[in-house]
Amino acid sequence: MATASQAPRESAAPWQTHTVFNQAPPLEGVDVFASNLPLVEAVQREGASWVSERASALGRVVGGEPQQSWGTLANENKPVLHTHDRYGNRIDEVEYHPAWHKLMALGVEHELHSLPWTSSEPFAHTARAALYMTAMQAEAGFACPITMTFAVVPALRAQPELAAEWEPLITASTYDPRPIPASEKGSAIAGMWMTEKQGGSDVRANTTAATPLGGGGPGGEYELSGHKWFCSAPMSDLFLVLAQTDEGLSCFLLPRILPDGSRNACHLQRLKDKLGNRSNASAEIELHGALAHMVGEPGRGVRTIIEMVGHTRLDCVIGAAAGMRAGVVGATHHAAHRSAFGKLLIDQPLMRNVLADLCVESEASTALAMRLARAYDDAHADAEAGMDDSDAQLFKRLATAVGKFWACKRAPNHAYEALECLGGNGYVEESGMPRLYREAPLASIWEGSGNVMSLDVLRALTRSPRALEVFVAEVEQARGADARLDAGVQRLKDQFADPATLETRARRVVESMALCLQGSLLVRHAPPAVADAFCASRLAGDGGLEYGTLPADTDFEGIIARSRPQS
Ligand SMILES: Cc1cc2nc3c(=O)[nH]c(=O)nc-3n(C[C@H](O)[C@H](O)[C@H](O)COP(=O)(O)OP(=O)(O)OC[C@H]3O[C@@H](n4cnc5c(N)ncnc54)[C@H](O)[C@@H]3O)c2cc1C
Repeated sequence: MATASQAPRESAAPWQTHTVFNQAPPLEGVDVFASNLPLVEAVQREGASWVSERASALGRVVGGEPQQSWGTLANENKPVLHTHDRYGNRIDEVEYHPAWHKLMALGVEHELHSLPWTSSEPFAHTARAALYMTAMQAEAGFACPITMTFAVVPALRAQPELAAEWEPLITASTYDPRPIPASEKGSAIAGMWMTEKQGGSDVRANTTAATPLGGGGPGGEYELSGHKWFCSAPMSDLFLVLAQTDEGLSCFLLPRILPDGSRNACHLQRLKDKLGNRSNASAEIELHGALAHMVGEPGRGVRTIIEMVGHTRLDCVIGAAAGMRAGVVGATHHAAHRSAFGKLLIDQPLMRNVLADLCVESEASTALAMRLARAYDDAHADAEAGMDDSDAQLFKRLATAVGKFWACKRAPNHAYEALECLGGNGYVEESGMPRLYREAPLASIWEGSGNVMSLDVLRALTRSPRALEVFVAEVEQARGADARLDAGVQRLKDQFADPATLETRARRVVESMALCLQGSLLVRHAPPAVADAFCASRLAGDGGLEYGTLPADTDFEGIIARSRPQS
């Protein structure tokens, strides 16, 4: 047996056939907030610089252990449904890997679910968006219940006594997954049940029936019977549920555990076997006279729950930008350490074009997401001041639909290109890129798929024609700074000339709106190299259908250096 001093050096081991080289080192110990310059600048620009230190602290946590292991573990060990206990009693429990609970605790303790509802600091939505985007660098699945918990608050406020009871629990910064009444835990996680087998976009086709137990009406108690087809985070403590009453589709608050500690009459039939988002459970559920309280007016369920829907759509935009940022980080890091044909990939002219194009898209999405988050701050401030249909509210309404369509549509192909930058390594699970890729289409489907969002833009414009003026005024803040943007805005205005065909052309119209808004934000706020590449390729047609088709005179190096994480 060899002593320590006699032990062969690894490089001289007799079984060693080769030396491992030309592989990127693990990206560890990075502050994923501070190293994200487009985000850091957006936080300052949109008025929430007070959160920077907090976001940096979170960025260091996420860039450490969680990014390395929690997200991977929570996805590799998918949630398991236990419908019954060993004795045959129904329990309807989903068992998660401990890493899922760690991620949930991370999100709740950093107030990703509550900050705008609890903080007295200015621009708390903007601040929260920065925290959310930072946390999502670890993993996306847990963001779903975090988002729903955040988004339920404004909808719940339609029923003040229910809000008084639940809001303190929902906004508490402790996470407790035990199946006991939320009041005993002092905290609550929220979900939403709208989609049924026969209709998700068209929720008015819901057949779940609500029967009043007393007089019924706002706040009244009902029994719900029927089914729901896509119920994410089914171990949440409360759900907003749509169901039919005599007056029409109405909104209800349904607790999973009743005050006496018994389970509400909701049976989990099975969990979805999903493309991605595997750490998160999504269930099919049947309701057998489940107890619930009406939120808002009877027959006005969509109007009530739309507040929750709107806030989840905001998070879809932030989440899409977060995914693109993760793609940029993975791709640029790899290319900076991997050589091929005698040069680092990051120095190969064509790879530079691909990387710079990915960076531009990511920065455009970040700018859009953060401007949108700021719109929520402005709109809420106006609402508190008693204003209706203010410019900020109109902009928020329209830009949410525009942003949700566009950022979510751009995410999957961005993830795919980022993955390809790693070559074969990118196709292997350990790289994290397959997880990013599988997750990417979800935000576009959830809470309004692509067509539905495009039609929602038209609906918003029909309801408030002034919204278009407000939107264009925002874009035209950059007027005169770039002729390509000005021409794009003119083309956008021209697209409204023929209302008869608007529905058929809705995707193109919304795409133009998104590109003009992103272009305007970059022209006003990003370095000239980024704005120039965006305007040339996305507005002036000097680019192809794939990434890596920016014009040859682009400042590739400058664009990549700005977005690349320094390790
Ligand atoms: C991972 C995941 C988690 C989910 N979690 C939840 C949840 O927690 N709670 C919940 O309630 N739902 C949830 N959903 C469901 C989701 O919100 C719906 O799938 C979505 O709203 C689309 O509804 P649908 O599946 O019924 O598709 P459909 O409504 O049948 O739509 C199919 C396609 O038709 C298009 N379309 C619809 N109407 C029109 C039209 N008028 N013109 C042109 N095109 C149209 C849509 O854009 C879509 O592409 C989840 C979905 C996924 C994938």
